[in-house]
Amino acid sequence: MKNYNILIIGSGPAGLFAAIWLEKLGLDKIAIIDRNSYPAGGLLNDGKLNFDYRVGFDIDELQIDRAAAEKMMQEIKQVLIRFPRCRQVTFIDNNGKLSALAAIAAEHGAQFIAPEQWHWGTDNGKALVDYLRGYLKKTEFLLGTEVAAIERLEKNAFRLSCLQGPKKSSFKASVILAAPGRSGAYWFRDVAKELNIRHNFGPIDVGIRLELNRTFYDSTTDIVYNPKFIFTTSRHGDKVRTFCTNPGGRVRVENYGDFKLVNGDALFRKKTKNTNFALINTVALTKPLSDTTEFGQRIAKQFFLLGGGKPIVQRIGDFREGRRSSLTTFNSATRHFEVCKATGNATPGDITLAMPARIIDNLWESLKALDKIIPGILHPSTLLYAPEIKFFDTHFPTDSHLETNIKGIFVAGDGTGKSRGIVGAAISGIIAAQGIARQG
Ligand SMILES: Cc1cc2nc3c(=O)[nH]c(=O)nc-3n(C[C@H](O)[C@H](O)[C@H](O)COP(=O)(O)OP(=O)(O)OC[C@H]3O[C@@H](n4cnc5c(N)ncnc54)[C@H](O)[C@@H]3O)c2cc1C
Repeated sequence: MKNYNILIIGSGPAGLFAAIWLEKLGLDKIAIIDRNSYPAGGLLNDGKLNFDYRVGFDIDELQIDRAAAEKMMQEIKQVLIRFPRCRQVTFIDNNGKLSALAAIAAEHGAQFIAPEQWHWGTDNGKALVDYLRGYLKKTEFLLGTEVAAIERLEKNAFRLSCLQGPKKSSFKASVILAAPGRSGAYWFRDVAKELNIRHNFGPIDVGIRLELNRTFYDSTTDIVYNPKFIFTTSRHGDKVRTFCTNPGGRVRVENYGDFKLVNGDALFRKKTKNTNFALINTVALTKPLSDTTEFGQRIAKQFFLLGGGKPIVQRIGDFREGRRSSLTTFNSATRHFEVCKATGNATPGDITLAMPARIIDNLWESLKALDKIIPGILHPSTLLYAPEIKFFDTHFPTDSHLETNIKGIFVAGDGTGKSRGIVGAAISGIIAAQGIARQG
């Protein structure tokens, strides 16, 4: 059984940045394990980077202050700035245009955040990962290796039982950094139960992805690539926000086996005529059901059932009239639907049939406000895809170094509730690396 000082589970931004920092801090005998044969995690997804302490992570959760977050963001930029195809797309100061937009948003009861943003595009993802791997001189990659179980052997030693295709293998380490991302979140929750690692349920975000002719949104996305509008609805007092805007982008479908979710991205070189973005409603549960995962998955499965195994898409024109969208009228010029050609693979139908009423109320109220801030969003041709769900729900209480209650097990990234995006995941990886280095 091969023995390491540190085993990192997951080669996404959390795992890769942790490894870069561990090497920088002089540690060795490090390996990154990933079930995929190419080490990247979500770094192959679009690559919008939000450099703002209010976006993509929670400074309270990471137990850092704003100054520490900004210092780490600077350090991440220093790593990325030498990758030529990662370019800044939103600048902090834009001739007063951003503050004008914030003022219009405030008039309509919305908070507006324009983070400094960089972007590399899905088509540059592999080159970016190869570039980041270039920083790692000593770290070993155990790829195509799925961690099945973690066992505590004795004080300061863990055994990881893994599958490499049909082959079984095991590795030993003194420290584990679990950064399994959203795709590994439920697996790690089961491991946590076995190892008595403390965890609980946090909120999830449930909503839709809008796709519209980009001419309606260009005036805004030309000054801020990925604008964040945050609404508190008057009917239910719930929080709804825009998320992950992709000017000239595509709607993507993620397959989870017994359900599918929508998402979006954009390429660096080839643009579509559309813009897409998510509008999501934060949902927290208490009694008698606190398991937000279970709730979110049931919603997703309802869409899967009604959409014949695909997400559902509905034109705003149909939604307003209270009727389903159908294949026969989906591109009807009489209804002005030809203005936006769908890029996502979804079934025309009725999103209100599968989404809880409270969430529909919140989304519709927010959309009406957004249409006042950016007129044209509610053009009849605009497409509403559902479900878009962000499962950031399993939360692991840790100390300020992201070590769990089990000494030697650290956590980072989206799958453990420490981030909600690439920059946040990288920051959490860096914090964990610093914590591991402190222990020597
Ligand atoms: C379509 C799409 C577009 C996105 N666009 C953006 C964007 O523009 N900007 C942004 O900031 N964020 C974006 N995101 C989110 C972003 O990808 C994540 O926030 C980020 O990748 C999280 O990083 P992570 O390191 O926590 O996990 P991940 O990047 O998900 O990496 C986790 C890794 O762990 C591995 N793993 C899991 N379980 C195991 C196991 N048992 N054994 C071995 N390996 C395992 C997985 O294979 C994976 O490679 C997007 C996501 C999607 C799906």
